[in-house]
Amino acid sequence: MGRRIAHIGIAVRDLKTSVPLFSKLLGKPPDHTEKVEDQQVHTAMFVLKESAFELLEPASPDSVIAKYIAKRGEGVHHISIYVDDIKGELSRLKQEGFQLVDEKPRKGANHCLVAFVHPKSTNGVLIELAQKVG
Ligand code: ZN
Repeated sequence: MGRRIAHIGIAVRDLKTSVPLFSKLLGKPPDHTEKVEDQQVHTAMFVLKESAFELLEPASPDSVIAKYIAKRGEGVHHISIYVDDIKGELSRLKQEGFQLVDEKPRKGANHCLVAFVHPKSTNGVLIELAQKVG
């Protein structure tokens, strides 16, 4: 498949307000909602052809999204890129000198393995690598 934008992750305080807002904005309901235990977030995916918007609401006060919103408010949180081989890509990026948040992939939303690359090494943009599994 090769690399492509999987989705744009947006931190929101409350899906109850943001899902209707984005439904109105995009002219469609979300395609998928899911709680991601590993990251303590509730997510709502709005698929737009080959990519998507992923709304992220903190599921607990310790969630990274809760901390992000407390510090910077709601807004674009990360950009996710599909890769074919997430482990290979992580070791390639590490070798290239990128700072990894996750040395190993973990379970993300939508049957994906995910891993984050630190914004300090990517011009301030948190990058998520995602690989579809199953
Ligand atoms: Zn994401």
